[in-house]
Amino acid sequence: MRVYIDPEACLGCGVCTAIVPEVFSLGDEGFAVVLLDPVDELFRDLVQRAADECAEEAIRVEETHDSFYKI
Ligand code: SF4
Repeated sequence: MRVYIDPEACLGCGVCTAIVPEVFSLGDEGFAVVLLDPVDELFRDLVQRAADECAEEAIRVEETHDSFYKI
């Protein structure tokens, strides 16, 4: 899967980085950035939780054919 942050919506609250710091970090400008592309399925549940808990609904998850990346 691929994960995106809407830079117009993110407030830099840090909720997502606290839930799954392997995937999200706060960038130099204080807003969330995604560290992995694609994001491993291992993190799916935590990424979904972060997306659910983001009050700004700034996190978007896009499905990919992950088998393509495992070749
Ligand atoms: S939880 Fe949402 S608003 Fe907060 S830093 Fe993450 S993406 Fe930005």
